[in-house]
Amino acid sequence: MSSILVVGSLAYDDVRTPVASRDGVLGGAASYFSMAASLYAPVRLVGVVGDDFKDGDIARLRDRGVDLGGLERRQGTSFRWKGTYDFALDTAETINTDLGVFGDWRPKIPSAFVDSEFVFLANIDPVIQLATLEQMRRPKVVALDTMNYWIDHSRDALLEVMAKVDVVSINEGEARQLCNTFKLAHAAREILALGPRVLVVKRGENGATLFTKEGAFWAPAYPLDETVDPTGAGDTFAGGFVGYIAECGGFEDPVSLRRAVLHGTVCASFAVERFSVDGIGAADRAAVDARYKALHDLIRV
Ligand code: AMP
Repeated sequence: MSSILVVGSLAYDDVRTPVASRDGVLGGAASYFSMAASLYAPVRLVGVVGDDFKDGDIARLRDRGVDLGGLERRQGTSFRWKGTYDFALDTAETINTDLGVFGDWRPKIPSAFVDSEFVFLANIDPVIQLATLEQMRRPKVVALDTMNYWIDHSRDALLEVMAKVDVVSINEGEARQLCNTFKLAHAAREILALGPRVLVVKRGENGATLFTKEGAFWAPAYPLDETVDPTGAGDTFAGGFVGYIAECGGFEDPVSLRRAVLHGTVCASFAVERFSVDGIGAADRAAVDARYKALHDLIRV
């Protein structure tokens, strides 16, 4: 089966919500992505951790079948992120970022990984995303995520890498910010004009919207009684989305793209039900498929 390569952060997060907090829990874009994508296809992870990274956290990824042949362990501290949410639980406010060993790390894709057909460039410096992409042989589908920091600080490189990928996944606010517009449809048109074939705009509790040159597909979020911690929702969404596309062998059929959005939505719903990767980590494929069916029934006419 087609393999998925992910390059991104593995972190220890300190998370504050208005009702609860957790310190030093497993996070990072690559962790969330891998926990979801591994429900669909084999995942190869490229990342870096410090000598403080717990064996038990490595085991959580390994137990999910993730190939850790591209995981470097360096002397120093792992990436640490501290974020807080207000009651809207939509956008995280970063309180502190401590890059640790992540700071001067430049991903080196192991030779056994360069032929991966599906690639996810998680939120990371776009210059590094470009350098990563150049090491890949001929990937079939490349997807990219980013954040407001890179829109502000590394805009030219971000636009350059966006032009080279197939799928851009971005938050609603970031899409507006990138294109300096209040109108999402305008932002979508502008981003697609850069080169990607597919744009996925994540809209938190309001779901996600898929844009292609042919049109748009609006998916609601999976209805949950309670959201505990929205951290990692976007990366888990990407894991379900790219995972499903890899399982299908690509997205030439436009229906598979719409289904991929629902799979991303469902995976994200598991992630936000608990802190850290605990929610998506407890989900298996049967649980995902049951929620997929329920979500599909909800939007069917
Ligand atoms: P999400 O909520 O999907 O946007 O992703 C949250 C995860 O991204 C957290 O677990 C953080 O550890 C990680 N993260 C936050 N800021 C950065 C950054 N600048 N670079 C890489 N990963 C980050």
